[in-house]
Amino acid sequence: MNPALPLADLSRACVHTITTKPWPIETAAAKYAAAGFGGITVWREALKGRNVAATGRLLREHGLSVVSLCRGGFFAATTAAERSRALDENRRAVDEARALGAPKVVLVCGAVPGQSLTESRLQISDAVAALLPHCEQAKVGVAIEPLHPMYADNRSAVNTLRQANDMAERIGSPLVGVAVDVYHVWWDPDLEVEIARSGRLGALMAFHECDWLTPTADLLNDRGLMGEGCIPLRQIRAWVEAAGFRGHVEVEVFSNRLWAMDQDEVLGRIVRAIQDHA
Ligand code: ZN
Repeated sequence: MNPALPLADLSRACVHTITTKPWPIETAAAKYAAAGFGGITVWREALKGRNVAATGRLLREHGLSVVSLCRGGFFAATTAAERSRALDENRRAVDEARALGAPKVVLVCGAVPGQSLTESRLQISDAVAALLPHCEQAKVGVAIEPLHPMYADNRSAVNTLRQANDMAERIGSPLVGVAVDVYHVWWDPDLEVEIARSGRLGALMAFHECDWLTPTADLLNDRGLMGEGCIPLRQIRAWVEAAGFRGHVEVEVFSNRLWAMDQDEVLGRIVRAIQDHA
């Protein structure tokens, strides 16, 4: 399959507020809209101390689609009490998404050092199923995001798109899907096949872009802007679009380097990175 064409206009692109973490959400929304972005994804911490519904209205007044709320998850735990607390926290995240007007919560599913990944996956699958009635009531979906295996110790036992698809297929609800983040899955030899499968399942809820730096200096906060690394971005976007995805291309860059810079300069770089590489 040929790589995708350049993204013609920014109305199909979205920025995750974590990417410009130094900006309060009000500033981020105004700047993203002024730059021409069509969407915004909201990091839950960005809502601290704010009226969530009023913040959602503000984002829409800027003409931005609220693409996702990030993040829920962290379901795996060694005790039933902790798992129950995690489920309650996820119900709150679903309520927040509903108040914000976000159609879905993205899930970083969790893992516990020393607990088998198989056991964690069972706990995650059970938790997502247990969360589903609350999602149905709120009309809010959840997107299972597989994380790169370097995070399998303590962030997610779901490490491939196949595992995420398996979970979504088993649960079998239109409100349970997957998020494809190029940073986590670009290396996977089954990626093209599994993206097509996500499409057939009707499960392709989100598509996140950034890039993989060589060397990577920090496991969490050293992602690159699109074009700074080695991920075949347009190839993966072509697969996602061939699978029927018509949502926003979401820029999600956790980066100490970028957070230390002038954020207007960062947003300018994001715009150019999308035009040249996304
Ligand atoms: Zn992501």
